[in-house]
Amino acid sequence: MDDPRNLLKPGTRTCRCSSCGEYFTAPSVFDLHRVGQYPGCRCLDPAEIDARGLTLDARGRWTASLRVTLPDRDRRFYPG
Ligand SMILES: [Zn+2]
Repeated sequence: MDDPRNLLKPGTRTCRCSSCGEYFTAPSVFDLHRVGQYPGCRCLDPAEIDARGLTLDARGRWTASLRVTLPDRDRRFYPG
């Protein structure tokens, strides 16, 4: 529990992937690091996540930057 990112507050939108252990600022950002269809789905590794246009914030969480083209259903989370 030394990692400060483990201290997720109640009600936060931050989520941690139980598979790869990475943190994401929102469930929609989490979805962007999962590829494939069950049972062949997997997590992208950090280099691949970066290549998708996600960036690490100051707290070490992956976040969607303006470089990311989000599916229409996610646009409401990232106005502008
Ligand atoms: Zn993962």
